[in-house]
This record gives sequence, structure tokens and C-alpha cells, in this order.
Amino acid sequence: MTTPAVPTVTLDNGVAIPQLGFGVFQIPDDETTAAVTTALEAGYRSIDTAAIYGNEAGVGRALAASGLPREELFVTTKLWNADQGYDATLRAFDASLAALGLDHVDLYLIHWPAPARDLYPDSWRAIARLTAEGRVRAAGVSNFQPAHLRRLIDGSGLVPAVNQIELHPGLQQSELRAFHAAHGIATEAWSPLAQGAVLDDAVVTAIAARTGKSPAQVVLRWHLQLGTIVIPKSVTPSRIRENLDVFDFALTDADLSALSTTDRSLRTGPDPDTFN
Ligand code: NDP
Repeated sequence: MTTPAVPTVTLDNGVAIPQLGFGVFQIPDDETTAAVTTALEAGYRSIDTAAIYGNEAGVGRALAASGLPREELFVTTKLWNADQGYDATLRAFDASLAALGLDHVDLYLIHWPAPARDLYPDSWRAIARLTAEGRVRAAGVSNFQPAHLRRLIDGSGLVPAVNQIELHPGLQQSELRAFHAAHGIATEAWSPLAQGAVLDDAVVTAIAARTGKSPAQVVLRWHLQLGTIVIPKSVTPSRIRENLDVFDFALTDADLSALSTTDRSLRTGPDPDTFN
């Protein structure tokens, strides 16, 4: 299979991120190297990990072994809740870089606002410093609600380049996406397949049958046509390749309109307002 051309999204700070990347949540460290290697061979160039996943080292080994130039790779990692706060963030970032074996990351995210800790503005100041130092190319957040985003923007003037949120046809997040659009924040979808829970939706399977693509490919295409950055995870080599093979077909306006009715407030992960 030839390497497909993955389009990029240009973030508000000018940094370009591949619109489709590879997520490694719940992959044990010793299996992560093989999964990321398969993904890089298939043509993925963007990898999404996090300190709490415990597999930054596994990602780093695959990146090093790939021989790919660093500037062709886009690496995201995340600050865990227990490491929030100014000094703790700087220490956690150093530990992530060491585990990854890198001297900078392309995107560094506050993993959750953890509002009861009330430390995310301090963590954000630390990430702003890391960005100014060139060790983080783009500063972003994850699981932030409009109130959390407003507090960062008003308090620091630095607008997060990205908010990575749970988003799939079962949880369409229309209000939050409109907030992002109004503030120049790129939307990145986690659990883009709802960990499989949207793949047997009747609207999805009907479009899959008509187009000859798989339900997962239909859902990923929905994300891409929404303009979302998407990071599906798989440890299965055939699925890793299948999830990248989504640039040779398009959903019609009627498909998009049918998919807009599949929202069922399906949260597969925690509620960002109460998860600390
Ligand atoms: P996904 O929605 O990507 O779904 C992954 C699941 O779907 C796995 O069980 C996988 O199985 C299966 N799958 C993958 N491709 C296919 C396919 N083509 N056909 C059928 N089944 C398929 O879930 P994730 O929760 O992993 O989310 C993706 C990424 O988002 C994570 O890996 C992580 O990087 C990020 N994330 C971020 C969070 C945050 O708080 N910021 C929270 C959760 C995730 P198998 O692996 O067995 O092939």
C-alpha cells in the first residue's frame, strides 16, 4: 500500500498537525513499540500519548527505531492531574521528554482541568514558559469546558491551540465545537470511534454498506469532514492500516445530515467537570 497523504490542520500559532494520527491509550508499554512501528510503516506521522498511559518510553523506542527525521513526526503528550501546578508541571514535562527520548514535543496538553484541584491556570503558565523556550511547539488542553477555557484565555492571553475532547457520532459536542471555532481553538477528537460503541449504529452501517467502506472508516470520514483532528487507536495491524485508508471516498451532504441525528449524549469517559 502506498503511503496516503494525510492532510494537515494549521493551528492558530502556525504549527501544522496531521489531521489523522495514532492514539496509544491502554496499550501496555511493551506492546506500544510494535503498534507505533506498524502505524509509522502504514504512514501515520502523528502519535498521541500521555504520561498516565505509562507508554511514553514505548512510543520513544518506536520513533527512534523508525529512522524518520524528527521534523516529519508530530508527538503529543499530556500532563497528568497529580502533576498540576507550576513547578510540578515543569518537572513532569522533563520526565515525559526523558521517557520519550526527545528534546521537544509538538503538542503538550493539560490532560484534564481537574477543577477541584484549581491548579490548571498555574499549569498553563508553566506550559507557556515551555513554549517560549521552544520545548513545546504548541500548547493545548484536553477535556476543558467553556468556563475552563475562558479562565485560561482571560488570565493569560494565551489561547490553547487545541482542545482534545471526547467526540464521536454518539457525542457530537456542538456547543463546545462552536466555542472552539469562535476562539481559534482546533478541536481534536479522542475515542473517535467511541471505543467501538458507534460502529453498529444503523446510520453508520447503512453508509458503510453503500460506500463499501467499514463502519470505522465512515466514522473517521465524518470527523475529517467536520474539520476535526482525529487519533484512532488500534493494536490490530489490519485496523491500523484500515483507519488510515479514508482519503479515497467522501460522505455526501445527506450522509452528514443523517449522522447529525445520531447524538445520544454517549460519554464513554469521565465528566470533565467532576473528574479530578
Ligand atoms: P477509539 O475510539 O480510538 O477506539 C479504539 C477501540 O476501537 C479499540 O478497542 C480498537 O480495537 C477498536 N478499533 C480500532 N479501529 C477499529 C476498526 N477499524 N474496526 C473495529 N474496531 C476498531 O478509542 P480510544 O479511547 O483509544 O481513543 C483514541 C485515542 O484518543 C487514545 O488512544 C488516546 O490517544 C486518546 N484519548 C485521550 C483521552 C483524553 O482524556 N485526552 C481519553 C481517551 C483517549 P483493537 O485495538 O483491539 O484493534
